[in-house]
Amino acid sequence: MSFSYANIPDAALEEAVEAEFGDNSFALEKKSQYYNFICPFCGDPARPNKKKAYVYRDRWLFRCYKCGQSMHFMKYLKENDDAAYKRMLLFGFDGDRSDDKREEVLPKKKVDLPFEDGELISLLDHHPLAEQAVAFCQGRRIRPEVYDLWFVCQEGDQFLKRDDLGGLVLNEQGRPIGNEFKNRLIIPFYKYGGAWTQFDARALDPDNKLRYRNFEGVKRQAYNIDFLDVTKPFYILEGTIDSTFIRNAIAIGGISHFDEVIADNPQIAEHKENCTVIWDNDNAGELARIESVKKGYKWFNWSGIKEKDVNGAVLSGEMPVDDDGYVSTQFIEGRSLPPEGAAIIFALERGDMAARERQKQRETRLQLVQKMQAKQKVEVWF
Ligand SMILES: [Zn+2]
Repeated sequence: MSFSYANIPDAALEEAVEAEFGDNSFALEKKSQYYNFICPFCGDPARPNKKKAYVYRDRWLFRCYKCGQSMHFMKYLKENDDAAYKRMLLFGFDGDRSDDKREEVLPKKKVDLPFEDGELISLLDHHPLAEQAVAFCQGRRIRPEVYDLWFVCQEGDQFLKRDDLGGLVLNEQGRPIGNEFKNRLIIPFYKYGGAWTQFDARALDPDNKLRYRNFEGVKRQAYNIDFLDVTKPFYILEGTIDSTFIRNAIAIGGISHFDEVIADNPQIAEHKENCTVIWDNDNAGELARIESVKKGYKWFNWSGIKEKDVNGAVLSGEMPVDDDGYVSTQFIEGRSLPPEGAAIIFALERGDMAARERQKQRETRLQLVQKMQAKQKVEVWF
């Protein structure tokens, strides 16, 4: 997702530093390169000349030279001032920065979304379900900058839809309507400025057979499409979570949505020379690859990688991750191959596979023959 602390305007960070440490007890001093103040962790307000804490204004690094605390100022806020952190997060989207739209990122009831007040909890909230969701995200090595903006859906009868008399509203199968995304991670499809109307709902329970659900109330759109820059190398993936590991990428939810997304977003086809489609590393993906290559899109070379998708390959170490938590750009670009000549490569790969398959069959047959011969010998001896 195109959300980064780097998108937060300096003016907003200045305001936040001044709000955080502007109180007299910190003796805040503003210089052109940094802020200097009494450390909130180890400082003594009675000794205002001992100011060991700094926030450097180039990289927004908080550092104390006495107690050694050192972190991005956003991390300081996250750990020490939840409300201020959440407000600042909303500046992290690139694109349109108008304040009016930004309000909508907050988990409040929206007409378009199938959630009641209080049904969604931010992953930043201190709630057991939010903590379970954070543990899931961390287990998959999803970047905090991404999952900080996600939600989890609580389970509760109070979220079921009711009529004016307080009775439950039932669907055609006679089941109550509402709360259908309970106990799922809610991954909003943010638009410019932070509004969202579509989402993926990922089951947190590993035994839940229906891993993903998405909201059918609105037309399906590609995840992160508003933030895609088609003038640079860009990537199309199947899975939303997979796409958060690749810079300048969208997710389309599955092979079957490819043509629709291309039709809805003509800028993709206009810049297809920049576009690599990273289908999953499975049989269906291999077939889809033949089709997208025919349409002139670059393909991703999975050779030597066992895992079936990007997240799996990140976790297994088969895809190298950089300091920012993305799969290395060099690695991705190095395996993005042009559509020209791809048909021959695929045919050779398939040829190899067919040859290996024939070899395996020969070996199996040989073993069978030997077994039969051995059995016949035994029979003869008796
Ligand atoms: Zn300190």
